[in-house]
Amino acid sequence: MSKTRAVVAIASAATLAVGVATVSLTAHASPKESTEESQSQDHSTNNAPDINVDGVKHHLQKFQTIADDNGGNRAAGTSGYQASADYVAKTLDDAGFNVTRQTCGSCDNSEDENVIADWPGGETDNTIMIGGHLDSVADGPGIDDNGSGSAAVLQIALTVAENNPELKNHMRFAWWAEEELGMHGSKHYIDNTGVDDIAGYINLDMVAGTNAGYFIDNMSSPTAVAMVDHFDSIDKPAEEFTDCCSDNGPFTDAGVESTLLTTGYGESKTQEQADKWGGEAGKPYDPCYHTACDTYPDNINAQALDHMTDAAAQGLWDNASKTNRYNPVEICGQDYSIQEREAVTTESGTELGQVYMLWSNDAEQNCAVTIKTTAAGVETQTAVTLAAESGDNVSDKGAFAHYAGPVKLDAKGTCVKVDGSIAAEDGTVGTGSIPLSHCG
Ligand SMILES: [Zn+2]
Repeated sequence: MSKTRAVVAIASAATLAVGVATVSLTAHASPKESTEESQSQDHSTNNAPDINVDGVKHHLQKFQTIADDNGGNRAAGTSGYQASADYVAKTLDDAGFNVTRQTCGSCDNSEDENVIADWPGGETDNTIMIGGHLDSVADGPGIDDNGSGSAAVLQIALTVAENNPELKNHMRFAWWAEEELGMHGSKHYIDNTGVDDIAGYINLDMVAGTNAGYFIDNMSSPTAVAMVDHFDSIDKPAEEFTDCCSDNGPFTDAGVESTLLTTGYGESKTQEQADKWGGEAGKPYDPCYHTACDTYPDNINAQALDHMTDAAAQGLWDNASKTNRYNPVEICGQDYSIQEREAVTTESGTELGQVYMLWSNDAEQNCAVTIKTTAAGVETQTAVTLAAESGDNVSDKGAFAHYAGPVKLDAKGTCVKVDGSIAAEDGTVGTGSIPLSHCG
């Protein structure tokens, strides 16, 4: 699989420097600070509440008990898998979700079900999905892999039910069957339910490694950006995860902006990573990967699980709050979507405006453009290069390295059309007005 992307961000003030944005965005990403900010700032809906890791651990204890009662595992096609699906579905049903148990007819074991849960509200044609696989391997109870991701997504769902946040986009939660047999459950969903309504997908697979790394797949995509910020804010800067794939892979292949959170599989941590994140160099991220010792509580790193769960929640809230997901513009013969990121403030709290990102899923060449924006009678012109990068490793793209302005915007949530244009410097493609917000 080969992916290429190019990104540029457009911010609202000509004087806005990269450093300013970095500082303020980092501050926004801290859950504790965001709670304090929520009283005074109107863009607080981007910030998720802290997710209670004790709740996540409670679900993991349930998964361990289920494995103990069902021959030691929760593998596809077994009573342990069925009991896991029953537990997740009942918990969600009790919390007020619309729960669907999707029979996976194309699975190896046709009785295996995906559990899908919708929280009522939000734009359904702009649905944000978050999920993980519910099956273990046959060799063990599958607590890190992937009781951890399953439990984290479940606790995030319960937190949504508890808080009932008013977010722009619809939220859907998923627990997949038969990932360990070849991602059959997620592929079945994509083939049978379809993804035309899905604007982004976040996957969690193994998020509690005892020798945890902090990895994100596709970390320069808009779907991942709030999670990248979260890890920066807790001084656990994430790395691009280059293994392909968990259930995010089929979504990516289907054209959905997708990302993955993981603390790593069975590979060994490098010295550089140990220096950065702690833990032991030369030892696997999860020494019990796909073995009988993947048990609760011994094979769980509660702190890493807490960090991963909070990051995933930030990603969900951020994506569910975004506008402009469908607003393609053609530049250099390539389609770019324009997406709102979040408000940019100075360190003293003055709001400068919104950051927007231009993002392409299929850019195959660098595209030199001039971005012109006009607001309050002032025109600004900025030359940037939208960089295409090839290969599966799309780390360190400098997604927010380019800013241009000024663009004057109303408060978040208000539809504002900004006069502007992006033109290729060779003059061949793409002069035109760009509505920087979704005005219809
Ligand atoms: Zn897994």
